[in-house]
Amino acid sequence: MQKNTDCYGWIASVVGAKLMRIAYQYRLLPTSEQRAKLSRWLDMLRLQYNWMLADRFDWWEMNRCPVNACPLVASIAEPREQPNYYSQKRSLVPLKQDRPWYKEIYSQALQDMVKRVKLAFDRYLSGDCNGNRSGKPRFKGKNRYRSFTYPQASIAWIDGNKIELPKLGIFKVIWHRPLPEGFKVKTAIVTKKADGWYITLTLEDMSVPEFISDVEPRENNSIGIDLGLEKFLADSDGGFEPIPQHFRKSEEKLARLQQKVSTAKQGSRARKLLVRKVAKLHQKIARQRKQFHFETAQKVLKKADVVFVEDLSVKNMSRCAKPKQDEAGKFLPNGQSAKSGLNKSIADAGWSQFLDILAFKAGKAGQRVVKVNPKGTSQHCSNCLNRVPKELSDRWHSCPHCATELDRDTNAAILIKKVGLDIALLKNAQPASDWKRSPRCTA
Ligand SMILES: [Zn+2]
Repeated sequence: MQKNTDCYGWIASVVGAKLMRIAYQYRLLPTSEQRAKLSRWLDMLRLQYNWMLADRFDWWEMNRCPVNACPLVASIAEPREQPNYYSQKRSLVPLKQDRPWYKEIYSQALQDMVKRVKLAFDRYLSGDCNGNRSGKPRFKGKNRYRSFTYPQASIAWIDGNKIELPKLGIFKVIWHRPLPEGFKVKTAIVTKKADGWYITLTLEDMSVPEFISDVEPRENNSIGIDLGLEKFLADSDGGFEPIPQHFRKSEEKLARLQQKVSTAKQGSRARKLLVRKVAKLHQKIARQRKQFHFETAQKVLKKADVVFVEDLSVKNMSRCAKPKQDEAGKFLPNGQSAKSGLNKSIADAGWSQFLDILAFKAGKAGQRVVKVNPKGTSQHCSNCLNRVPKELSDRWHSCPHCATELDRDTNAAILIKKVGLDIALLKNAQPASDWKRSPRCTA
């Protein structure tokens, strides 16, 4: 049996949730018959999802009109009600009459699919709770629709190391850890992954009203951390956490495999096998990364009760490194490769996951993670607070004003701590709009 490193108890929603919600994931062991049924369900749900998406797009296509012009020549659409969540939900009744095989699917799982269409559309048109809009919803091809939800799961479904799913039957489960006490099972999500089927149970604790820690940040109980591309993180005590070498190895292997896929003949068996390999490797990398994040979070939280981190939503991560030239006009390394290389792809995907894990673990232990605006923290001296401009390629901070000599990331981490403790105000921090923009890079 393969070791499942990603089966940690995982946060469903820590921020904004009133009640504490966590999710536990277990491996399902379906029989070949059950596997066929699960795949059939996914396929049916996917087709209906696509149809409902198309229905919504159609309505928009038919009913749009330029604001400032009345079209004299236009296809006149037959007036019809705009499809919405409720009308699409109602349409499931005739669907089951026309296509009786849809009766096979548990009705709540079918309704949840309609909800997914609604969410995809809402996020496209009006954005999520933070106003961040997503791209246009896409039609899902085979293997792009990989899960379905039982929105009202129950603890009664579980019996020993078996779980009974409505309309699907009894499944064997690898019960690698018990469900925590005092939690209520809310939903169950069945997911197809590269190496098999999983079930995710979201749990809610009615008694714990969400983690609230009242630790007051002080100089001696807090630490600042700076996340970077070269090292994974640097802390304000001068400690570092490097990016593990095995990431690099896995990524190189991935690149080689993907190269092979691109040269394999379309539709061939060899290609199919390679694609499977790529999917498994992706899964492995994701698991390695998650484990590394958990271990690193553990290490950080051992050092202090309050951790100051940079607020990633403020950090501009897509900026290009400015070109750097010597006196003769020769171009010098400017750190662009660090910004666009393999390291970056790992870091990009990782930082926010790491911060989520850190916040989750801190909350569980009564510790705190505080987000800090990182503006100017890499461009100022942590000792005298004067502005010391640096390029990304300058790895060392040496202050001409007070002669402080530090690693640049340590310097930033100390500043993050100072800003978090409110003892440093970066007065000369320039607003983002004043920063010189370098030409947009495609790398
Ligand atoms: Zn200084």
